[in-house]
Amino acid sequence: MKDTELFQLAMGLVPPWQVMQCAFDKAQGRLDISIGFVRGGTFVCPGCGRAGCKAYDTEERTWRHLNFFQYETYLHARVPRIQCEGCGIKVVNVPWARPGSGFTLLFEALIMALAAQMPVQALARIVREHDTRLWRVLDHYVAAARAKADFSAVEQVGVDETASRRGQNYVSLFVDLERSQVIFACAGRDAATIGLFKQDLIAHGGAAAAVSEVCCDMSPAFISGIEEQFPQAHLTFDKFHVLKIVNEAVDKVRRQEQASRPELTKTRYVWLKNPEHLTVLQAATVERLSMKKLKLKTARAYHLRLVFQEFWGQAQEEAEVFLRRWYSWAVRSRLPPIREAAATIKRHWSGILRWFESRVSNGILEGINSLVQAAKARARGYRTARNLITMIYLIAGKLDFSLPT
Ligand SMILES: [Zn+2]
Repeated sequence: MKDTELFQLAMGLVPPWQVMQCAFDKAQGRLDISIGFVRGGTFVCPGCGRAGCKAYDTEERTWRHLNFFQYETYLHARVPRIQCEGCGIKVVNVPWARPGSGFTLLFEALIMALAAQMPVQALARIVREHDTRLWRVLDHYVAAARAKADFSAVEQVGVDETASRRGQNYVSLFVDLERSQVIFACAGRDAATIGLFKQDLIAHGGAAAAVSEVCCDMSPAFISGIEEQFPQAHLTFDKFHVLKIVNEAVDKVRRQEQASRPELTKTRYVWLKNPEHLTVLQAATVERLSMKKLKLKTARAYHLRLVFQEFWGQAQEEAEVFLRRWYSWAVRSRLPPIREAAATIKRHWSGILRWFESRVSNGILEGINSLVQAAKARARGYRTARNLITMIYLIAGKLDFSLPT
């Protein structure tokens, strides 16, 4: 068997395409494979699919292919142009690459597989290509896969934001809560992003009226956007974010009190953790500082927080009574930060109680967000929000890329 036949088999080339020549350059560390077509071979029109079109001239093209061991491998071919009766002059499609790409399909499949696992910058160094070229490949497959995605079954949506660059720019993530899938991501975190999501949902076969539950934090922009774009959806405020309001109030009480009570120094985290997560030493600190005779406001605020947390463990029929009782206790607490938190809770009353009907939370989003943040940290940030969004779809979009294997 000649080496050209071997490569022809390995590449799965079928007539009229055939490997004409292989040039191996050990010093340059590269292998160049030339592909041609048999004289008189005919081609399919890329425009209309008409078969039997004859080549009328050719254009020289090069593609980066999978390495042959450590040697960079390039394919070269004179790609025929045909004259189709219906479509005019067209460059034919080659079976090893998609139109316009400088990489073969198998090389692109390698990029896609590795990009989900490592920073694109690092991948670019390994394959010795500029990362802009790799991003172009990622963008293409993500866009193509998203174009085919069907969101007609989407009924429960969670929305949250993630910081794109040093906490300055934000990207909003929309997740199908039943399928744990990011279905939309866009720059910004205002009411308009909700409108963009709705358009995209409809473009993918979804219906705004089919969305019955939306889970989000208490950001006024999200709330007004959802009320406007999804008027029939019920809002549930994510319990993690609701609890955070009370947690922050406890921390504020501690900060204010610390100025006059030195025993609170370096206790920040013991008040923020749940008792079961405290070390023995931290638990002892909480116990000591909670003694009634010390009259620490922080300890009272902490106790209010612990009780508040039990809200989500109530039976549905008792939840509202529980919340009302907690609220009146909080407003009479003489702890201004706690009273402010209670007022926030009062303003978001029905969306907080809605949890007992919907049982939705953005816990999935927190998980996705930590994957995204880890990828971002590995990549030391992304140059553009667009790159971050592409990466989010790659990691958490559950997209079908239909790649060759
Ligand atoms: Zn045609």
